[in-house]
Amino acid sequence: MRRKLVAGNWKMHGSLDFNAGLVGRLRDGIGEVACDVFVCPPFPYLAQLQQLLAGSEIGLGAQNASEQQQGAFTGEVSLAMLRDFGCRYVLLGHSERRTLYGESDALVAAKFEAALAAGLVPVLCVGETLAEREAGLTETVVFRQLRAVFERVSVKAMAAALLAYEPVWAIGTGVTATPVQAQAVHAAIRGFVGAGDAAVAEGVRILYGGSVKPQNAEELFGQPDIDGGLIGGAALVADDFLAICRAA
Ligand code: PEP
Repeated sequence: MRRKLVAGNWKMHGSLDFNAGLVGRLRDGIGEVACDVFVCPPFPYLAQLQQLLAGSEIGLGAQNASEQQQGAFTGEVSLAMLRDFGCRYVLLGHSERRTLYGESDALVAAKFEAALAAGLVPVLCVGETLAEREAGLTETVVFRQLRAVFERVSVKAMAAALLAYEPVWAIGTGVTATPVQAQAVHAAIRGFVGAGDAAVAEGVRILYGGSVKPQNAEELFGQPDIDGGLIGGAALVADDFLAICRAA
């Protein structure tokens, strides 16, 4: 039985004041939540969040990381630095990184391998655009993104990672994949992993991301292959995020 997990991706939102208020409310409400939870603030706030979350059940993650260990890589943040600030998780290959910042499948795969080597839990984000879905290419795209990772690490390595299916057309748009649509892709992803290692496929948690709200979370999380959510906009509203966590 896979334990449900809900993660909040704060994207480029927050301030010292805002974060303190939001985390205070999350800490107040987390006692009623049965699933695993973590939040991913922007890099500059990791130190603040490490303190705000001390002693709480809410974990800390980052939104990205460099595949390099250290050196002349201006503007980059290493995985070791994330560990220094108490991060356990790191999102990799979010569609905004892939589309707005040109991150290739190969780069995301290199980051994934580096994250595992650094002892963090990588959250590999995969998903198709609307045009790709309409062209019937959803599985082709998602499998290509997965294959790039399996060219660098063995399928067994996925046991120490998380997957997130995030259809690009559903992220931040208010348009959510239907539970049936999402379940179909989650099952396909599990099948793809299972072709390499059935036990790993059975154990790996696959999160759904894309306009999850309190109103649709329960039905999505009720699907057999949906193990929780990666939440963007709603993660910035304490009541909504907590309601989504309670639905998991
Ligand atoms: C995300 O950023 O990963 C995401 C799913 O965003 P939203 O929930 O706002 O669609």
